[in-house]
Amino acid sequence: MLALTDKDIRTSFINASRKEAADLTLPAEFDSLDWDRLDLLGWRDPKLERRAYAIVPTLEGELIGILFRHPGSRPRTRAQCSWCNDATLPNDVVLYNAKRAGKAGKNGNTVGTLICEDFECSRNARRPPKTWYEGFDVEEARLLQVAELQLRAAAFAVQV
Ligand SMILES: [Zn+2]
Repeated sequence: MLALTDKDIRTSFINASRKEAADLTLPAEFDSLDWDRLDLLGWRDPKLERRAYAIVPTLEGELIGILFRHPGSRPRTRAQCSWCNDATLPNDVVLYNAKRAGKAGKNGNTVGTLICEDFECSRNARRPPKTWYEGFDVEEARLLQVAELQLRAAAFAVQV
């Protein structure tokens, strides 16, 4: 994805108040992120324990910022991330909740989804997949994983 500025991030939210967007703390490594290897920027607020954010580019090149609520617990069984869709994850997955944008959200309408706890999806999608058969094109499959992650994250952002 293209590099974002502090302002890009704070003005992209569709389900956060102006105050919530102003109060957020950027990820500690913000100045050294490798944007080429990210399909979305997701992080947990270093200061507000139950808050997390994801900035997702849509296929039209728009940015959708989503404010999430961390559930404070993890599922009892091993869950699969609905974004990177990887069943052999090296990290935890939690059920994140997002308030819907606009009126629906004001009425308490939320949408939940299982996502890698620290939004490791971009990194996971870039791991080479298993070689299923001789001649299996690992690089092509890897690119497909990345493309699918972009689609799933964008579809969720639009749903919010
Ligand atoms: Zn994931």
